[in-house]
Amino acid sequence: MKMKENREENFSEVILIGAGIMSATLGTFIKKLEPSWKIKIFERMDRVTAESSEAWNNAGTGHSAFCELNYTTEQEDGSINIDKAVKIAESFEVSKEFWATLVQEGIIENPAEVIRSIPHMSFVWGENNATFLRKRFEAMSKHHLFSDMEFSNDFDQIKDWMPLIMEGRDASQELAATRVDIGTDVNFGALATSMFGYLQESDNVELRLHQEVGDIKRLANGNWELTIKDLDSGKDIKYTARFIFIGAGGGSLPLLEKSGIPEGKGYGGFPISGKWLVCNKPEIIEKHNAKVYGKASVGSPPMSVPHLDTRMIDGKRALLFGPYAGFTTKFLKYGSYMDLPQSIKWSNIWPLISAGMHNLSLTKYLVEQVTQSPEERLSALKEYFPEAELEDWDLKDAGQRVQVIKKDENGTGVLEFGTEVVYAQDGSLATLLGASPGASTSVSIMISLLKKCFPEMEASEKWRTELTRMIPSYGKSLGADIQLFEETRRRTSDALQLDYSYS
Ligand SMILES: Cc1cc2nc3c(=O)[nH]c(=O)nc-3n(C[C@H](O)[C@H](O)[C@H](O)COP(=O)(O)OP(=O)(O)OC[C@H]3O[C@@H](n4cnc5c(N)ncnc54)[C@H](O)[C@@H]3O)c2cc1C
Repeated sequence: MKMKENREENFSEVILIGAGIMSATLGTFIKKLEPSWKIKIFERMDRVTAESSEAWNNAGTGHSAFCELNYTTEQEDGSINIDKAVKIAESFEVSKEFWATLVQEGIIENPAEVIRSIPHMSFVWGENNATFLRKRFEAMSKHHLFSDMEFSNDFDQIKDWMPLIMEGRDASQELAATRVDIGTDVNFGALATSMFGYLQESDNVELRLHQEVGDIKRLANGNWELTIKDLDSGKDIKYTARFIFIGAGGGSLPLLEKSGIPEGKGYGGFPISGKWLVCNKPEIIEKHNAKVYGKASVGSPPMSVPHLDTRMIDGKRALLFGPYAGFTTKFLKYGSYMDLPQSIKWSNIWPLISAGMHNLSLTKYLVEQVTQSPEERLSALKEYFPEAELEDWDLKDAGQRVQVIKKDENGTGVLEFGTEVVYAQDGSLATLLGASPGASTSVSIMISLLKKCFPEMEASEKWRTELTRMIPSYGKSLGADIQLFEETRRRTSDALQLDYSYS
């Protein structure tokens, strides 16, 4: 997409819808690459990062595939495919490169408020799961991205790694665990807030809160016109832009539908809400120092893998367990119960119905989760912390995810658990749907978006030089080049004050 001069009132080159981590990342990239472009950001809430990007609304795991078992699959011949794990781990290294640059430039003032080292561990029980974990360890630890991984099926060793999980556990049970010390806990809310702070202080950028985008339409001159309700005055105001990014999280699908682009036809959304059990007892919180991920139960969606997580939020250590899934028709935590019904159109009604028919195990799982009693929630926690007691834990709402339902070539709906960016053919509009692996890979997602929407500029020397300054490995593969990877991890870990190893 080429940018031409335009003097309309309320015109800006770029409009970003939603003030979450995705708009923050894209806005920061564009500001660095084209400082003279006018950027407007509209957010319906009265603060930034109120939805999924807020620290308590997500798990804060820096997804590197160290502990998330759903990123590695067992093939029919029994071997373990680590391709997805490598891609996610590489993406996270690229995210850290960008964040390290933000630290060096003073955009992130205190890296410890944004990202911290915390061991990432996987923990399973039963013979089949233990065999899977050992094979996974053998396949992964050969790759330089995962060479720090350790494996154990020794009760005392695992107890040393995760004492809380092993207290009161039957020593005859077959157990296995892996450990990677250089995992991370990320406060994506604090990270995005740093970037919005930088954008607000920059020339040509306006961040407007309490402004809800209601309609999007294409004008004859190719620009986009947005109708935006000022939620304080109740007035509708129109703004135009050459390029728009719909980074509205769960609210993206309805806006994509409003834009009317043919590429958006046939998409549907399936909302899944989440809850955490949050520990209220400091003595217990202190005893755990890891993110420990288990195996998802049969029929459950991949992102519902249970985990017992140490978090550091606003300088305070916390311990949470979950997520417990739930169903609501809201697309946003602070959304409307009409979100799902209003998103149903002729073009996506069959994909929605057929996806439901093909995912009966998910429906059953959600019904079971929604109807869980506090005691049933406790028994799920006890699988990870056998001595847990109900009064030490409070139930807290997590963020809302809207899983993508996509039409396949036969017109049938397929439920996807990943992230998908839908582009207008000329690259003048991009929408981010879905939520996994999410914020951890926000930098790579936005780099792909820049390549797709601004191909000539991305190929120009000016942009390449700036992109390589911000992300020194730009255009190269950290998964393929060990030396580059070691240099990169050392540099980013130093800047972000993280533990590192490149043995
Ligand atoms: C339970 C849970 C756990 C997760 N765990 C992890 C994890 O451990 N690691 C990880 O990397 N990712 C995780 N994620 C995913 C991650 O949180 C998301 O990928 C990421 O926060 C999405 O950012 P976003 O900017 O797209 O959306 P959001 O942060 O949701 O921001 C969208 C913004 O758009 C605004 N908006 C919506 N509609 C409109 C409108 N019409 N007009 C104006 N503004 C609008 C909303 O108010 C909101 O502020 C998790 C998500 C959930 C729900």
